[in-house]
Amino acid sequence: MAAPRAEVVIDLDHLRHNVAHLDALAADAETMAVVKADGYGHGAVEVARAALEAGATWLGSCSLAEALHLREHGLTAPVLAWLDPPGTDYAPGVARGVDLSASSVRQLAEISAAATRAGRTARVHLKVDTGLSRNGCPPADWPELVERAARTPNVEVHAVWSHLAVADEIGHPATDAQAERFDDAYREARAAGLDPRRHLANSAAVLTRPDLHFDLVRPGIAVYGLNPVPVPADLRPVMTFRSVVALTKRVPAGEAVSYGLTWTSKSDTTLALVTAGYADGVPRALSNRVHVWLNGRRHPVVGRVCMDQVVVDCGDHPVAEGDEVVLFGTGAHGEPTAREWADTAGTIDYEIVTGMYRPRVVRTYRGRR
Ligand SMILES: *Cc1c(COP(=O)(O)O)cnc(C)c1O
Repeated sequence: MAAPRAEVVIDLDHLRHNVAHLDALAADAETMAVVKADGYGHGAVEVARAALEAGATWLGSCSLAEALHLREHGLTAPVLAWLDPPGTDYAPGVARGVDLSASSVRQLAEISAAATRAGRTARVHLKVDTGLSRNGCPPADWPELVERAARTPNVEVHAVWSHLAVADEIGHPATDAQAERFDDAYREARAAGLDPRRHLANSAAVLTRPDLHFDLVRPGIAVYGLNPVPVPADLRPVMTFRSVVALTKRVPAGEAVSYGLTWTSKSDTTLALVTAGYADGVPRALSNRVHVWLNGRRHPVVGRVCMDQVVVDCGDHPVAEGDEVVLFGTGAHGEPTAREWADTAGTIDYEIVTGMYRPRVVRTYRGRR
């Protein structure tokens, strides 16, 4: 059978290893595996199943639709959905036991109305903005939100929570400032008669701030084996992006390659045409700036990245049509990593792996399913 022209291979054994490691680091807290954006491009349902096997007890989604997708695939674990536009019908979420987040009195009212329609109590997590200035209730409005929540009969407040802005910069004073505001918000919630749990930590804080683990931690990127902090952690990258050599050709010195003719061979060389381009997730910004792993060594991508293909300069090394090409992987053997791509392209590895969520790229799973 022919190899797929562009494929991401998801190693579920690596994913289970990462979750078990993170869960052990947050020993006194439960672990919510964040699986938004189709599991950061790795497949939310498969990731969720593997994460729960490895010790996670919660799942985290961005939208309600993502959370309901997990329910539709038989995942019954607690799942929190935290960001949808006004007018969203939360009733199917309440009916299916999805925890919902409220950052304002208006959102709380929408959830309460949905609970009425669904005929059951909604479980909510009240989100406070402690300094990210994104989602979350500003501190000035927080007392009203917690008091309203305490008085809303068909809403059960399970937790107060917030999100960190610079946890990946170890020792940054803003994290301590956020922690202080979080503490204030918690005390105000208790003063309103609530007895909520607390959660604050993203991957970076799971790895570096045990004092901020509270009752539940919410790692995302580290679940996928990518380390957001500059300290070593026992994480194994989960995604490998691979393609295949479709054509090889020997060219003389002085031959230019790809649109714009931006690269010219300096000597006789073998070029390999690889069937992955920017429509498959290879950023065009990596033109002439990245290597692939082919037959046990690195070879440069030469010329512009095209929509469907790239050209690789193999020099005088052996290469054959049909050979496997690793575009990025774990790095264990010397192959490029998603992090290396991100650094070169001026972004973060989150965007690289999440960008692999595209219909043209085949996704396959390795490891026990
Ligand atoms: C995405 C997200 C996370 C996970 O963040 P990582 O940096 O990937 O660990 C946690 N909490 C919230 C609210 C998020 O949006």
